[in-house]
Amino acid sequence: MALKDALESSVRPGELYEVIDERRIRCFACGHNCPIPDGAAGVCKVRFNRAGRLQVPWGYVGGVQCDPIEKKPFFHAMPGALAYSFGMLGCDLHCSYCQNWVTSQALRDPAAVVPPTPASPEGLVSDALRLGARVLVSTYNEPLITAEWAVAIFREARAAGLRTAFVSNGNGTPRALEYLRPHIDFYKVDLKSFDDRHYRTLGGRLEPILDTIRRLHGMGVWLEVVTLLISGFNDDPDEIDRLTTFLAGVSPDIPWHVTAFHTDYRMTDTSDTTPAQLIAAAETGRRNGLRFVYAGNQPGRVGPLENTWCPGCGAAVIERIGYSIQRYALTPDGACGTCGTSIPGRWDAAFGGQIASTPFVPVARRLRVS
Ligand code: SF4
Repeated sequence: MALKDALESSVRPGELYEVIDERRIRCFACGHNCPIPDGAAGVCKVRFNRAGRLQVPWGYVGGVQCDPIEKKPFFHAMPGALAYSFGMLGCDLHCSYCQNWVTSQALRDPAAVVPPTPASPEGLVSDALRLGARVLVSTYNEPLITAEWAVAIFREARAAGLRTAFVSNGNGTPRALEYLRPHIDFYKVDLKSFDDRHYRTLGGRLEPILDTIRRLHGMGVWLEVVTLLISGFNDDPDEIDRLTTFLAGVSPDIPWHVTAFHTDYRMTDTSDTTPAQLIAAAETGRRNGLRFVYAGNQPGRVGPLENTWCPGCGAAVIERIGYSIQRYALTPDGACGTCGTSIPGRWDAAFGGQIASTPFVPVARRLRVS
């Protein structure tokens, strides 16, 4: 069975849409807000109009894996917890440097061949529990475009005592975020640039991403923001200055991860980001008021920028090398163990250690596709 046919049979009626007229519906799962004629698909290619009803992806995963939650990255949410990540296929953007292109571009790029694996919410949650995971994360493809499926899984996960998270490009809509709000604990937004022209080269716009950041913070969903720093694309000091000024204006307590680009997918002629570039961008973020700035993808090479520092007394409250926690000094209520300053985040009452050295890869049956 061809991938497109396999995916078109793995659907069910969606919830994030409205009827425009007899022939068209509008999907509002992501910032594209696609008007979709009968028989056609949206920009993401995985949501489509069949006889006036929106059909959305259902009943499969493109991949699952267990990793430390720090790898997502979440640094202020249940440190050390094992996170069970699942993804589907497709994306609403088409970034030339995508690190998950095999799943995100599965319907656009013939080289991206990942067969879908049949799955159920109950099965995924019981797999996560069996492996000792404490958080379920929708990631790999863009989770907003498969939000109904994520919510079905998150309902099961919450009932089983697990936490839930999105790792997302942030191209949301107010209605999609309200739909997710009752079901989601942590949200990572990938703020790729602060220039609308750059976003348009990726197939998106800047404003919906900024709006998502403001709204998630206003809703009280725990939010961390990541910027993959890419030479010649988004590393202009003025752009980093404006980006971090915006973020600090929403809240100085939002953790900002500035991470190193490594050559990937179609972006092969851009040099890898150096530790010095990360450190310079991080200094801009700190200068603009962000209190928790991290440099990622260069473990052991960015000085103090992998640790969480108390903004009250300057003590290291969590020390890390890469994803690995070396030392933990928060009190049970998430305060600095030295001076008692409260550190924003979603903390456990105690640090229970970390499973970090061997990521789990659960084995699953696969559909036959060609
Ligand atoms: S998820 Fe986004 S790209 Fe896909 S159909 Fe809906 S609005 Fe369009």
